[in-house]
Amino acid sequence: MTTQSASCLFPVYARTPLRFEHGHGSTLFTREGNAFLDFGSGVAVNALGHGHPRLVQVLHRQAEKLWHVSNLYTIPEQERLAEQLCGLSFADRVFFCNSGTEALELSIKAARRYHYCNGAPQRNRIITLEGAFHGRTLGSLAATGQEKYLEGFEPRAAGFDQVPFGDPLRLEEAITGQTAGILVEPIQGESGIRPLPRGYLRALRDICDFYGILLMLDEVQTGIGRTGRFFAYENEEVAPDILATAKGLGGGFPVAACLATEAVGSMMQPGTHGSTFGGNPLAMVVASEVLDIVNDPAFLQRVRDASLRLTRRADGLVSKYPSVFSEVRGAGLLLGIQCIPPVREVITTLHEQKLLCVPAGNNVLRLMPPLTVTDHEIDEAVVRLDRAAEQLSKAATI
Ligand SMILES: *Cc1c(COP(=O)(O)O)cnc(C)c1O
Repeated sequence: MTTQSASCLFPVYARTPLRFEHGHGSTLFTREGNAFLDFGSGVAVNALGHGHPRLVQVLHRQAEKLWHVSNLYTIPEQERLAEQLCGLSFADRVFFCNSGTEALELSIKAARRYHYCNGAPQRNRIITLEGAFHGRTLGSLAATGQEKYLEGFEPRAAGFDQVPFGDPLRLEEAITGQTAGILVEPIQGESGIRPLPRGYLRALRDICDFYGILLMLDEVQTGIGRTGRFFAYENEEVAPDILATAKGLGGGFPVAACLATEAVGSMMQPGTHGSTFGGNPLAMVVASEVLDIVNDPAFLQRVRDASLRLTRRADGLVSKYPSVFSEVRGAGLLLGIQCIPPVREVITTLHEQKLLCVPAGNNVLRLMPPLTVTDHEIDEAVVRLDRAAEQLSKAATI
């Protein structure tokens, strides 16, 4: 049922037959007019829901002015978005690209280049964590380091060392004279919404400062308000040297960014990197508008309030259906529910209730509604989760 034998596409996705025609806010509509509550947000991409009027308007306006000019020229929309990102974060320099994996590739390149320019070219290895997901291109795939993604694609790119999740001592032991930096996700997304233990990022910052290596964050999924702060590192009050972000940045328009301190970013001199499409004016104006909306204390407070409501109710479902759900984890509107029946089965049952969620690794159900989700929509989603869980718990006892 999930294969499409008649399709001309690479069969790389296990798709369901669901197809949507238009969307509005937190709701997606099929051609037949069936309305689904979207608690997947295109995997944390539709940060402001579907068809946000302000995003539609800026995109439309820019589409009539200019689509593409090339990075041979000054692009004011890029300058503006970079200033916005630097103004709200640790960063002094930004590079725009089109996907999370590209932002990670540049993060890796920038870390190597930094040490090269500082007389330590042998410092070219990056430490990553078990359970990581950093993307699908060869460099970030090697950083990901998981067999299930690497199988059949050897040889893997060199230069990565992986250590167990959440153990700063084991990580420190892995540092050598060749280490350039440490790359982590503040909350591991794809492997099942696993937040780093409290204090871990601070410990990494101290380790990096002590050894003169770089702290690199993958905030592709956790960035742009998803955890209730603009970037998740703010929850720990620890600033990185390099950060990759993408998913929510364009609210659905493909755009990503690599952010860096002056010390790192200024080493990327003309000719050291580039992207044909990166920083395209269409992407820039949409992302600027997303930032204008998200980087507002009241907006971020609302994300935290919505999170509390959804977390409390999801905890209630864990108590009510112990044969279906066992734990709720995460932060902000990036929540994971540990499932007992196979998560694919949970998702199919939720589809019958017209609720869309996203599976993650280790049998976890990801709840990540648009950041604009209303209390009413949260309550409605919980009613649908409850109905699905009831059905699944009956099936479990038969
Ligand atoms: C989605 C994701 C990526 C890869 O982003 P793409 O845009 O699919 O290349 C990398 N890291 C994390 C943490 C992600 O969630």
